[in-house]
Amino acid sequence: MDDCLFCRIAAGTVPATIVHRDEETIAFRDINPRAPFHVLVVPRKHLATMNDLGPEDERMTGHLFRVAASLVREAGYAERGWRAVMNANADAGQTVFHLHLHVLAGRAMTWPPG
Ligand code: AMP
Ligand code: ZN
Repeated sequence: MDDCLFCRIAAGTVPATIVHRDEETIAFRDINPRAPFHVLVVPRKHLATMNDLGPEDERMTGHLFRVAASLVREAGYAERGWRAVMNANADAGQTVFHLHLHVLAGRAMTWPPG
């Protein structure tokens, strides 16, 4: 997907502050952080939204959460608290149409989200 921003970041043709890489995922700092710690965990596979997940993606989605938890633990926020969010389509405010898990920590958060 040459025209997809997160595919290009995963391919290394667009720069980002990468904090984790493995065969299936890449994680980098959000360019417009909404918390002191704000990382996006992104599958290398291009899927536009959660609506496109198939049974073959179950292992990968679990892996996104395990990567998130390990990055949060490494950064020292695991016990204090953190949030993982995935937006899908317009009502949720999705702006980049390549699946990604927002991982936020470092401040108290309100519930429900706006
Ligand atoms: P969403 O609105 O859920 O689709 O989230 C997209 C996120 O990608 C937003 O939080 C943006 O700040 C972030 N973002 C957009 N462009 C970049 C970029 N080049 N590098 C890192 N994060 C980005
Ligand atoms: Zn993509």
